[in-house]
Amino acid sequence: MSQEQGITPRAQDFSAWYNDAVMRAELADYSVVRGCMVIRPNGYAIWELMQGALDRMFKDTGHRNAYFPLFIPQSFLAKEAEHVEGFAPEVAVVTHAGGKELEEPLVVRPTSETIIYASFAKWIQSYRDLPLLINQWANIVRWELRTRLFLRTTEFLWQEGHTAHADEADAEREARLMLGVYRRFAEEWMAMPVITGAKTDSEKFAGALRTYAIEALMQDNRALQAGTTHNLGQNFARAFGVQYQTAAGGLEYVWNTSWGVSTRLIGGLVMTHGDDVGIVCPPRLAPTQVVVVPIWKSDTERAAVLPAAEGAARDLKAAGLRVELDAREGMKPGAKYYEWEGRGVPLRLEIGPRDVARAQVFAARRTGGKAPIPLAGLVAGVQAALDELQRSLLEAARQRREANSRRGVTRAELVELMSGEGGGGFAYGGFCGSAACEAAIKEATRATVRVLPDEEFRSSPAPATCVWCGAPAAGEAVWAKAY
Ligand SMILES: [Zn+2]
Repeated sequence: MSQEQGITPRAQDFSAWYNDAVMRAELADYSVVRGCMVIRPNGYAIWELMQGALDRMFKDTGHRNAYFPLFIPQSFLAKEAEHVEGFAPEVAVVTHAGGKELEEPLVVRPTSETIIYASFAKWIQSYRDLPLLINQWANIVRWELRTRLFLRTTEFLWQEGHTAHADEADAEREARLMLGVYRRFAEEWMAMPVITGAKTDSEKFAGALRTYAIEALMQDNRALQAGTTHNLGQNFARAFGVQYQTAAGGLEYVWNTSWGVSTRLIGGLVMTHGDDVGIVCPPRLAPTQVVVVPIWKSDTERAAVLPAAEGAARDLKAAGLRVELDAREGMKPGAKYYEWEGRGVPLRLEIGPRDVARAQVFAARRTGGKAPIPLAGLVAGVQAALDELQRSLLEAARQRREANSRRGVTRAELVELMSGEGGGGFAYGGFCGSAACEAAIKEATRATVRVLPDEEFRSSPAPATCVWCGAPAAGEAVWAKAY
């Protein structure tokens, strides 16, 4: 049996590989509605695990969940000038309902700042009502012309945090705090290393004062913007009249933040860890962390092996692990392995007659390598193997990213680095900060400024001149071709 059958190798065509890997793992499917996808149970299970972890992190930082309408009066979007300009081209508009033309068309939310801040205006009266820290889990519609499963679809699932604060410093602290939460989630749960920093004006959210992002480097050397947080300033507060009475009795506009991550993260997980066999799930987000496969050739062997496999699965489940026992009859072990590998299950435990005799199981890692684990210490042994796998996935991804990051690039190097199909990676260089240079670089290389990196990621010494124009650098930028 060919292990790679049906999957395009990454080196041949990464984009085709991605689709094959997603389909083979049964994460998602195309739908009859163009641009929309069906998230299949295997994909939705990953999303539920992501949601669970993020939701805990949001609540641990003081946020509460709420839900706002899917429909937004069209006039709301127009209240914030940059916002409407940014989103108008991609909104879907409902003009008819109940058999009649609506008096005012309703926009299907492309993001919920406007409808949420209209409520905030009613809820917030005094400084005592601040900060107001809300999160919403919802679906979003943005009319995309070119779509890809998970990465860019017309409808997608996400969370959007929306907060109101008394002053700029508190809003800024919130935007930075949530950027840190996203980073921690990406690294500790997805094993996906990210760099953090601010967006340039041309890349920031429509209507925001400042946008921050976590950016990851995929295996094809293109960047994935995996999450953003925005300090919205008082723009939306002014548009929706969100004011509060200060302790001194004055009236002030609140400062807002918003922040979001979406089902796009699943695409990031696939493109960070997948190999030519299919997806690889980091253990903490694997719907099935361990599959137990009993191996027998005769009824006698079956009588010895099956109870041992059942017992192993039971013990692991009792310890809180997500376990499947694959005791299907009439199916060769190799065919089972192939199926579970394609789903990215991190650890497979094989139990044959000899293993039973030796009171052990054979543990095969999805990323390669086999080792016996004694049944006596099964739970601890499996937990250690999963922890080690989680760590090694993050480390491998970090090493790959660093190997494909170049610091202090010159103009010629930037052009060279971004050229060709396999070209890319993170290019660090000096940036004068001008929109003209940014646009010229994008035109010449298709690379955009992913972030103006936070201090931790900056080069030392700092670049002195702009990569493009040679003028003194205002700071450092990281360029990449992006999804
Ligand atoms: Zn310049």
